[in-house]
Amino acid sequence: MRTITWLLFVMVVSVFGCLVYFLNSLDSLAADELSHRVQLALQLEKRNARDSLEEYSFWDEAYQKIEVERDLAWVAKNSGDYLMDKHDFDFSVAITRGDQEVYLIRSSDAKTINYNDLKQPLLEMMAVSKQLNTEKKLTNGLFRIGQDVYHIVGGPFISEQNKQAREGTYLALGKRIDTDYLSELENDYQLFGLNLNNSADGLVSYKTLYSPSGGIIGYLSWQPHVPSKAIIPSITLITILFAFLITAVTMYILKKEQVSREEYEGQLFEEATTDSLTKVKNRRYFMMMGVNEFNTCNLLEEKRLSVLVLDIDYFKSINDKFGHSVGDKALTHFTQVCRTGLRKADILGRIGGEEFAVILPLTDAKKAKEIANRIRVLIEKSPCVSHGKLINLTVSIGIAAFNQQDTFEAMLEEADKALYNAKHQGRNQVIIYHDYTQELG
Ligand code: GH3
Ligand code: MG
Ligand code: MG
Repeated sequence: MRTITWLLFVMVVSVFGCLVYFLNSLDSLAADELSHRVQLALQLEKRNARDSLEEYSFWDEAYQKIEVERDLAWVAKNSGDYLMDKHDFDFSVAITRGDQEVYLIRSSDAKTINYNDLKQPLLEMMAVSKQLNTEKKLTNGLFRIGQDVYHIVGGPFISEQNKQAREGTYLALGKRIDTDYLSELENDYQLFGLNLNNSADGLVSYKTLYSPSGGIIGYLSWQPHVPSKAIIPSITLITILFAFLITAVTMYILKKEQVSREEYEGQLFEEATTDSLTKVKNRRYFMMMGVNEFNTCNLLEEKRLSVLVLDIDYFKSINDKFGHSVGDKALTHFTQVCRTGLRKADILGRIGGEEFAVILPLTDAKKAKEIANRIRVLIEKSPCVSHGKLINLTVSIGIAAFNQQDTFEAMLEEADKALYNAKHQGRNQVIIYHDYTQELG
């Protein structure tokens, strides 16, 4: 039972361990997936910004209107309304002849953004482009301007004819990374809890944002999706209930099995040790118990043990007169009456056809004679009733008391001899072996 309980315990712990491991794997897969999605979002945003700017930088008319003619009406209509509003940028800036001439084409918040704020990041972007020898291409970058972080894309005007960058020109678009923008990203890329932080302290899932020159701009964090957090309490509960159920069912089955096995063993023992007709001890078991009692008596200081052998008188004639089955009934009746005259510790056994014996532990000859006489009188006074007829029974009893005999069998033989003498002396009487031998002597 204990082994099975341990096995069950180990099984439940293993199942739970596997589940936790599985959920942890799911967690790390989910975390990787989210991180990948954030990366993808940033890349797509960069590409979108480049695509928007490319419309202008590869458009000679835009160069003409913005850089050469400074056609403010055209700029307001095209760069302003179209570029800013449609693509939702927060500012647009043009730079001519290096940083000599710069003008802010439009800003969604002119109060907080002016050229001076933008000059440094734009020059940094131009410098990085030059360093990387990509000055003809568009460049993306993240910059902190005042309290805000901006995503800026910039690049030179390119000639439509010779595909060369127009020297000294630079056009840039910027988008403020604010809560509105972050919640747009959340919606577009199925992210949760996106936030821009100044420090990485206490952040679980985040990505460090760098400026083009390598400085840290901030930390973009997101809410990690942890399936195990939601599932583990219920899984734990289910596992515990499951363990209890399995244990209870197994215990119940084992208990039932044990009870029925014990019942079966008890039944087998009963069959092997009991006389089927009278339900007293059979000869074999009676002899075993006799040997035990004999050995115990031998060990004790006060050696008191007696044995009775009982034989029903003229039993043959009962069979002859009433039939064998009535004889059987008389035998059962006989044992029942005998029991009423015996004590709890006395052992009654059937040692022959209508011969019985009783082991009387801790009983001397005198006491044994008293008990034997009590049985004799009880039998005489308790006729067996069968088919409305009274069948009178008497019994002859031989007694042997412990007297340094070698074996229990020797004691039984002595009692048998005393019984033989009782029969000879006219039946329905009790004779002690010792008295009888003394008489003989
Ligand atoms: P006594 O002992 O007084 O000398 O006479 P008895 O007639 O009893 O003689 P004995 O003890 O030799 O007879 C035993 C008889 O008991 C013989 C047998 O038919 C009968 N008997 C033995 N076993 C059974 C049994 O299981 N059922 C029945 N009905 N009779 C049995
Ligand atoms: Mg007899
Ligand atoms: Mg007999």
